[in-house]
Amino acid sequence: MTDTHYDAVIIGAGFAGLSAAALLSQQGRRVLLVEKSGRLGGRAAYIERDGFVWQYGQHSHRLAGDGIAARVFERLGEPIDFIDTRGNTAYLYFDGRLHRRPESVGGFLTTSLLPWAALLDFLRFYRRVLKEDANAWYDRTLLDFYRERGRNPWVERFLGFLGFTVMVSDPGLVSAGEVIQFLQRAAKAPIKQGEPRGGSRQLIDKLEAAIRRHGGEIHAAERVETILVERGVAVGVKTDRAHYRAGKVVFAAPLPGLFRVMPESLFAPPFVDYVTHIRPSRGVSIDFVFNEPVTDITGGILGVDMPLWVKFQSNIDPSIAPAGKHVNTWAMLLDPDSPASRDAPDAAEARIKRLMEELIPGCTDRIVHQRRLILPMVNGNMLMPSQSYPHRPSIICPDVRNLYFIGDTVQAEGCSGDIAFSSALELAGSL
Ligand SMILES: Cc1cc2nc3c(=O)[nH]c(=O)nc-3n(C[C@H](O)[C@H](O)[C@H](O)COP(=O)(O)OP(=O)(O)OC[C@H]3O[C@@H](n4cnc5c(N)ncnc54)[C@H](O)[C@@H]3O)c2cc1C
Repeated sequence: MTDTHYDAVIIGAGFAGLSAAALLSQQGRRVLLVEKSGRLGGRAAYIERDGFVWQYGQHSHRLAGDGIAARVFERLGEPIDFIDTRGNTAYLYFDGRLHRRPESVGGFLTTSLLPWAALLDFLRFYRRVLKEDANAWYDRTLLDFYRERGRNPWVERFLGFLGFTVMVSDPGLVSAGEVIQFLQRAAKAPIKQGEPRGGSRQLIDKLEAAIRRHGGEIHAAERVETILVERGVAVGVKTDRAHYRAGKVVFAAPLPGLFRVMPESLFAPPFVDYVTHIRPSRGVSIDFVFNEPVTDITGGILGVDMPLWVKFQSNIDPSIAPAGKHVNTWAMLLDPDSPASRDAPDAAEARIKRLMEELIPGCTDRIVHQRRLILPMVNGNMLMPSQSYPHRPSIICPDVRNLYFIGDTVQAEGCSGDIAFSSALELAGSL
């Protein structure tokens, strides 16, 4: 063992681990953050090369300054600098066409998204979503919830839009309670989506700076091999370089990786069963580089009846590309039920390129560079009923004392990256 004794050792420097390390060191705790990769940020990591900021995942933050990510940075006294996106043009792709994306109930009345009778039925349902108690609906799907009172086939297809707000576009798969809790918060927020200036680089750099400013230590390119447990109490970690003792051990990586650093036998069987069956979402993301802007769309495109999301990154934030270069990111979720095959990403890329040509004719001939990422994990936890808020493991481990779990697979508020941020806030509040 080294002599060093920390108040907390945190395993993994994604949004969750970085936020927890920053918040705990701000509180005066002696913190060590260990990250196996040479780069900080986890699924939000970035690389700067040739004047581009290449992001692994280009991130938007739900509800901008009113959202959960913003709370962490307010607490640290370093608010996120969001780009002013008022007046941006955002679209939905539905039934083979682009439609302006409505931002309010009134906005739906001026679109041609749905035939009139379906639109009225949808708006009646949406009113119910805004009034219903989310707790009563976590265990049912959005489609079940709609079918209690409605049966319009157009509306059933359009529900994909509501599901996609929590990144599960299939209304027969997504937990109604998760959609309800998000849309109720969203209805009160003036801005639905925040784009940080400089992308995730801004958040990662601010969190790293806060940790160092408050005396926290970061060890990158060091892998935790074992969480050390003595008589049912977590007491530290063994890495590929050293041993560290700590009063608290925080596992800040997706929970399915837990049993690589601890034996299953330390945990209750239902927990082991849950963790070994967690289903993440998977996808493909392609950054396309052009020598000219190929569209003036600034607010992106979201698929309603296909799991597509498009961000015209350099139209929103020119700082992520060198002068004269333009970057668009087109991404698609892969079917969570189909076996991971090598053909699925190729099929998704072909589908994306067909769509690009359909929506922006001639643009594929103007691609000067492309970077394709196959994403084995987009969200660590697909928000379906069995993985909805009440079912996710809590932050405080009930089986091993002084062991904590944070990150987007645990029981904390929000969806996607917001779960990671809110779990860090909760941890900092409970230690
Ligand atoms: C392409 C893409 C786009 C996305 N877009 C959005 C978006 O717009 N909005 C949003 O809210 N969310 C988005 N997400 C989801 C979001 O990125 C995640 O929810 C969030 O980053 C999860 O953070 P985390 O800290 O929980 O986990 P991670 O980012 O996975 O971090 C875990 C870290 O732990 C490290 N680690 C694991 N095991 C060990 C070990 N043994 N020793 C040391 N280190 C270890 C890993 O290397 C990793 O860095 C997107 C994800 C992707 C992939």
